[in-house]
Amino acid sequence: MKTIGLIGGMSWESSLVYYRLLNETVKEKLGGLHSAKTILYSVDFAEIEEMQREGRWAEAGERMAQAAQGLEAAGAELIVLCTNTMHKLAPAIEAATPLPFLHIADATAEAIRQQGLQRVALLATRFTMEEDFYTGRLRDKYGLQVLLPNEQERGIVHEIIYRELCVGVIREESRQAYTAIINRLIGQGAEAVILGCTEIGLLIGADDCAVPVFDTTHIHARAAVEAALQRAGERA
Ligand code: GLU
Repeated sequence: MKTIGLIGGMSWESSLVYYRLLNETVKEKLGGLHSAKTILYSVDFAEIEEMQREGRWAEAGERMAQAAQGLEAAGAELIVLCTNTMHKLAPAIEAATPLPFLHIADATAEAIRQQGLQRVALLATRFTMEEDFYTGRLRDKYGLQVLLPNEQERGIVHEIIYRELCVGVIREESRQAYTAIINRLIGQGAEAVILGCTEIGLLIGADDCAVPVFDTTHIHARAAVEAALQRAGERA
């Protein structure tokens, strides 16, 4: 089994979920006392969030590159970045280390395609919904059609992530706000929903939606275990 290097802390609420899922998935696959080999590089999210808000992306990219190099030096054999938003900086990580980097949008798009679905709603931070690094990848590399919440709804989704979910606050009112947005997008033809922020699964799940739900945290963690258990020469 390969050692998985996690860049986490964005927020730690979701890194905790990753840690549990990685271990549960290894146990499911190997049984007994088996657990995931992991190294976690956890940042102070207040510093990163400030860089995001102020548009200091180059600095944030250096921070992500340092984290990846630290994981490599510590013995990690593949890199998992435990946030969708910071995949904006995936190129900085990939340039910093030769280790395989498991892109969260690739793992998610492959899971969607396996189900034969094509029109998907995306709930995520404003960065992930409004910039091209994520939706462009889903569209250009996988042929998915991405339906986004409208401007006002994107504000609601974004604020709930940073003000509530990333600080461990789970409110019924916010769950209802998310499901109302999802239902409107289903009315527009969405065949599935991507929970495109690693904390959204703390608020809503499959039971809240009338269409299949693709939780990026779950999909990414499973893909990481599959890569870690892959034998030399095998493809994921
Ligand atoms: N964890 C979130 C995501 O998946 C948001 C926190 C962040 O900005 O990294 O996008």
